[in-house]
Amino acid sequence: MRRDPLQYLADELTSLREQGLYRRLRVLDGEQKAHAAVDGRSVVNLSSNNYLGLTTHPRLRERALEAVRELGVGTGSVRTIAGTMAIHMELERRLAAFKRTEAAVVFQSGFTANAGTVSSILGREDVIVSDELNHASIIDGARLSRATIKVFPHRDVAAARTIVSGLPRTQRTLLITDGVFSMDGDLGPLPDLCDIADEFGCIMMVDDAHASGVFGKNGRGTVDHFGMHGRVDVQVGTLSKAIGALGGYVAGSRALIEFLCHRARPFLFSTSHPPAVAAACLAAIDVLESEPELIDRLWENTRMFKSGLQALGLDTGGSESPITPVIVGDGALAMRLSDRLFEEGVFAQGIAFPTVARDKARVRTIVSATHTRDELRFALDCFARVGRELGIV
Ligand SMILES: *Cc1c(COP(=O)(O)O)cnc(C)c1O
Repeated sequence: MRRDPLQYLADELTSLREQGLYRRLRVLDGEQKAHAAVDGRSVVNLSSNNYLGLTTHPRLRERALEAVRELGVGTGSVRTIAGTMAIHMELERRLAAFKRTEAAVVFQSGFTANAGTVSSILGREDVIVSDELNHASIIDGARLSRATIKVFPHRDVAAARTIVSGLPRTQRTLLITDGVFSMDGDLGPLPDLCDIADEFGCIMMVDDAHASGVFGKNGRGTVDHFGMHGRVDVQVGTLSKAIGALGGYVAGSRALIEFLCHRARPFLFSTSHPPAVAAACLAAIDVLESEPELIDRLWENTRMFKSGLQALGLDTGGSESPITPVIVGDGALAMRLSDRLFEEGVFAQGIAFPTVARDKARVRTIVSATHTRDELRFALDCFARVGRELGIV
């Protein structure tokens, strides 16, 4: 009989089970909302990146449905052959105007935007200087570029400067950070990194996935938040989180964007967005510009919930955003906390190694503009009760 050559994968899963790190996928029974039905249970949803509730916003829904009726469900081609529709071009013009850059290009996801950009604008002779907690898509893009990768400790500007200043002035260098770090909710030190990039002539790049629709005027991102317009060469944003649909984009100079359209492999070799996705994203930009009160409500909820967790004595790390981790250390304990919260009616994902360091396992909470005060108070009560039960508070 043939030996199963994939047996080692089953062994790996057994080991995950033994460590309490095996995860079953949680399944939503209906819409992605602040209060959702998940695995047959009605829960306060603190796990989604749907910061502004746009996944179910009527204006996005309508525009998407209109696009399906008028334009169909798919594009049948990559952008560079026959898969560019007028609505894709319209979205890119709107994004460039929104981000106040010369141009923008849309990718199928934030992941492919990062990986496709980093891997195409740099090559074997170049250097990438990257925060240790930057997103996996940046790390993958860096590896694909074959450039030398130098990692600096999280948000350590002095260490980044030491690395950059030790490189030959002639060496092309990319300095790259997340705008908001997805597991900790803290911000990349953009002003200081821009100073380093200016001083040493680096390409400056920011991944604003969790800042898009959250930070800056009308949700323009961290470059706007920190007043760094004109000093960041490559801005990546996502259309999958606060924007409520799916996709990623790069905003920057005309030359950067045209180059990506010729060389970024996901743009060249993977089919473009269905028109309904582009339509929903266009409606989302309308909402960002005409309903700024959504972002105000997001921040009111953020302040209330974060201070509530801190008042319980929980370790929330250095979060400055609607993402607030509750750091408990041990991976199995984080999963236990998450499971017990779920039983009590609160969906907050447990996150352990390898997504975060082995001793920094956590339950991650994300509030949205659409959570009610009562829902957030209920969630805080559950954290208090389950926290006491598990000896965390
Ligand atoms: C979510 C995320 C991405 C990927 O965006 P998608 O649109 O979901 O592919 C990239 N970078 C960071 C920092 C993220 O948090």
